[in-house]
Amino acid sequence: MNLLQVTDEPVALEVVANEMNTLRYYPQRCINCGMCTKVCPHGVFAPNGAKVKVADHTGCIECGACRMNCPVAAIEVDSGVGCAAAMIRAALTGKEPTCGPDCRGI
Ligand code: SF4
Ligand code: SF4
Repeated sequence: MNLLQVTDEPVALEVVANEMNTLRYYPQRCINCGMCTKVCPHGVFAPNGAKVKVADHTGCIECGACRMNCPVAAIEVDSGVGCAAAMIRAALTGKEPTCGPDCRGI
């Protein structure tokens, strides 16, 4: 996990990011509504006092559900065809969605 500074905003924001995927979390924006912990199919976010934390960054399959449900844009992720394929494959097979080097789409 890397902690970077976003410098193109009036106030520098801490961002939690990782080289494994495009998930980016800005904890300073989080209002602790808990939506990301409910909608994420892989439990990537977890309660952590006044703000959520990224509990398993590498579990993110870039489905975009957390970003769509976060009311304050505290999460960014570039969801794409690969993750959609993973979700569809999981629905068809009844297995957990997976994404990674062995992903072959559907
Ligand atoms: S993009 Fe999907 S898998 Fe990744 S953290 Fe958000 S809800 Fe979880
Ligand atoms: S959905 Fe956004 S505001 Fe709500 S807990 Fe998650 S990161 Fe925080």
